Amino acid sequence: AWRALCPSPSGILGFDCDAPVLHSTELLDRRQQHFARPQKNYYSKPPQIERGWKEYLFDVEGRAYLDMVNNVTILGHGHPRLAAAVGRQWSLLNTNSRFHYASVAEFSERLAALAPDGLDTVFLVNSGSEANDLALRLAWAFSGERNVVSLLEAYHGWTVASDAVSTSIADNPRALETRPDWVHAVVAPNTYRGQFRGSDTTDHYVRSVATKLRELEDGAQGLAGFICEPVYGNAGGIPLPKGYLDAVYAMVRQRGGVCIADEVQVGYGRLGDYFWGFEEQGVVPDIITIAKGMGNGHPLGAVITRREIADALEKEGYFFSSSGGSPVSSVVGHTVLDLIEEEKLQDNARVVGGYLKTRLQALEQRFPLVGAVHGMGLYLGVEFVRDRNTLEPAKEETAAICDRLLELGVIMQPTGDHLNVLKIKPPLCLSRESADFFADMLTRVLDEGW
Ligand code: PLP
Repeated sequence: AWRALCPSPSGILGFDCDAPVLHSTELLDRRQQHFARPQKNYYSKPPQIERGWKEYLFDVEGRAYLDMVNNVTILGHGHPRLAAAVGRQWSLLNTNSRFHYASVAEFSERLAALAPDGLDTVFLVNSGSEANDLALRLAWAFSGERNVVSLLEAYHGWTVASDAVSTSIADNPRALETRPDWVHAVVAPNTYRGQFRGSDTTDHYVRSVATKLRELEDGAQGLAGFICEPVYGNAGGIPLPKGYLDAVYAMVRQRGGVCIADEVQVGYGRLGDYFWGFEEQGVVPDIITIAKGMGNGHPLGAVITRREIADALEKEGYFFSSSGGSPVSSVVGHTVLDLIEEEKLQDNARVVGGYLKTRLQALEQRFPLVGAVHGMGLYLGVEFVRDRNTLEPAKEETAAICDRLLELGVIMQPTGDHLNVLKIKPPLCLSRESADFFADMLTRVLDEGW
């Protein structure tokens, strides 16, 4: 089926990409024998994907799937311009990032220009976990302190430091027991199901941070920084309470800490109205971390900060990543930004995302299981609950809905701390027709049983 829908990349790359593939079951057996198990996959029988084109994936049986969860391939799959740019750079040069070459200078300059004034220094790494680890090291070096405040039910990565500040129970069941003593978690400011509901939520959540900071002060302990996603991605793209970050950033800075915005999921135009998530709160962080979409699937991450913060790390020790910001990575990053601009993908996220949200909100009226529709742009969340008063998470139902959606040709997975949220994060090229297809299929599944 995909052969009819998408052009063969053989023409672009100059060699045969259309060779026959191994059959799914044989490959799955081999994967189970040799590929480490903890890699998450919610499907018992995942489809074996062979090819992607725009917002669609195609399996070896020729079935097409609408890819509604791929937060990584922001441009869409199989973009010929990206393939050509990468192929060209590979054939010219790819090397240890220790050397001097043009693409890294151009790309760093471009990232700095996208960040707010003053955040003009860029570190290039290979993933979001690395970016957050580095951000924490920068906070430690700059402040000369160790303690970091993070939010409960957050996810920031799997490397040692980023994992320590990830207290999402779903992602890391042992998070609370194994948290090192420099991590101080505060309640998640989730306006839908958080600890404080109703009016004055901002004040309550801000007070919980103030209390934590006072505890540190009372114990004569300093503060290195505060880390969070500026839009609550892990819960399905829920905006933080109005004014929350403004108040929290002021308190953190007053105590000498730096404010880290994890934009790995929500940044880079996905929110439609905003390029960066922190714009939604009207604040400017001291350190921004990015990854995922910035490489469209190629391993690429970055930290953007002020020169004085970057310099503090140099005084303390060193930063070196062999392939972070390599010539190929830099060209990937540059080309992705060209295409986001040329194809007006942020605008598309706003328009198609807004349209899709309206269609999903109609489901909230019809089906009691749909507790809420969260998010903005093409970062949306549909949260399923058994009871709209108690908000009991409909975990099993969410898993069954995802399985059925797969049968109908939609890739979607249960996420959130209670595994009861459909996080909708398709490529930003999602068409209105594809948005309709998704909404139609979800309606059909809900009509069938809930
Ligand atoms: N931060 C957030 C908010 C994420 O969602 C993720 C990954 O899911 C990460 C950091 C870690 O990024 P990576 O998987 O590229 O290491």
